[in-house]
Amino acid sequence: MFLRKIKALNNTLLFRLTVLYAISFALIASLGFGLVYYRISSIAIQELDEELMDEVEDFSDLISRNDVAKTREILLQIKQYEDSDEEFYRLLTENGEVIDSSDMTGWRSLNLADNFRKLQEGHASFLYHTVSTEGENQKKARIITAAISDTLFFQLGETLEEVDEYLAIYRQLFVFLILVLTIITAATGWLISKWALSDILMISETAESIGKGAYDSRVDESGLFEETKRLAATFNNMVGRITSIMSSMKDINDSIAHDLRSPLARIRGGAEMALTQRSSVETYGEMASSTIEECDRLMNMINTMLDLAETEAGMTPKTMEHFNLTELINEACELYHPLAQAKNIELLSTLDDQELFRGDKKRMQRIVTNLLENSIKYTEDGGKVQVHATRKKGHISITIEDSGIGISEQDIPRIYDRFFRCDKSRPQGGFGLGLSLAKAYTESMNGIIDVKSSLAQGTIFTISFQQQLTNPLLSR
Ligand code: ADP
Repeated sequence: MFLRKIKALNNTLLFRLTVLYAISFALIASLGFGLVYYRISSIAIQELDEELMDEVEDFSDLISRNDVAKTREILLQIKQYEDSDEEFYRLLTENGEVIDSSDMTGWRSLNLADNFRKLQEGHASFLYHTVSTEGENQKKARIITAAISDTLFFQLGETLEEVDEYLAIYRQLFVFLILVLTIITAATGWLISKWALSDILMISETAESIGKGAYDSRVDESGLFEETKRLAATFNNMVGRITSIMSSMKDINDSIAHDLRSPLARIRGGAEMALTQRSSVETYGEMASSTIEECDRLMNMINTMLDLAETEAGMTPKTMEHFNLTELINEACELYHPLAQAKNIELLSTLDDQELFRGDKKRMQRIVTNLLENSIKYTEDGGKVQVHATRKKGHISITIEDSGIGISEQDIPRIYDRFFRCDKSRPQGGFGLGLSLAKAYTESMNGIIDVKSSLAQGTIFTISFQQQLTNPLLSR
């Protein structure tokens, strides 16, 4: 139970951040205190060395002013008050023979001959060493071996007990300080992390409540830090988008239900009639052709929906190629000419000569035909439809302008929504997918689609693309 709690705690960012704070502090503090400790211990040894050197100079002074016998006498006097456990000295000849020494009982196991040999080998005038006695009560001493004259050598040692005690106090103090400060850092780290994570906690609480069905919940962005504010804004946008997708899905479902139900009901009704009534061959023929018509409409709608979904998801790769835009628009105008003529609509096109374009030709054909078809469809008899294509500083725009029924101001923001049809346009038929597809195709080629319209005045659709092309056809 307890272990499980610890394991769960270990998985929290709060706990991990706290541990990280504590570990990094402990490491940095240990390094800092380690450096201070190293400096203190080297200063202590340095001071001891200076003390030893002063004493050596005093002895050498003594010897230079007295002969060996007198020096021995003076040293004997000194020995009376020197603590032999803390300090010792030895006076040696150049052969290593001890002429005089203090009481060496406690220092017997020290290997002093080695130091003397090293000094002679190195031809130095003095040498410092740190040595330890062997056996149970190990003692450490700092020793100086110095040449006083060509024939006399002097060894002076002092216990390191005092320095060690003093360094041990520092060690204990540092360990205690590191422990206490690490605990304080961990506590502070916990509080800081908790405070820093409170924004994220708030976002996750909102996410939880949305998950439980409160789709209107949003994160309050006021008072958040810049980083979490961005996260909250992205989250809110995402939730907003999902909610709007959900509501448009509902609209789509309603529209599909509406648009599929009527043709299917018509097909079924016709077939039922054929079964129950004794109809002539001509009636069967009419019924078959209307069934084909309805099926074509349905297939058209399904294909457009699939195209739209794939384009929006970026699933179908676009084929980028160079093609003649003027030619493409002329062909579309020719295609719709009979339809315009049937409605007595004047169809005009003003195009730059031989305009070259780089993009997906099939998609461009579909965009132009969709917009052109709408213009003719929503323009009353005797109206006018004009197509322009211009290029200015690498900016290509195609406008399709009509003098038709127009689109109301409140409908304009929704005309690119799937299955959206302005009410008044219903008699003209259509699934409300043409503009959605035109927009998706335009955007897939990094273009922009724009509309300007007023009721009973007419509509202007503009698609524009930024393209820096050298036009080989024009430059010919
Ligand atoms: P539809 O198949 O209904 O034409 P679209 O997606 O092509 O679907 O267009 C959506 C709606 O926008 C249409 O139902 C129509 O009401 C309106 N619309 C589109 N183009 C025009 C236009 N040129 N003039 C007036 N209304 C238009």
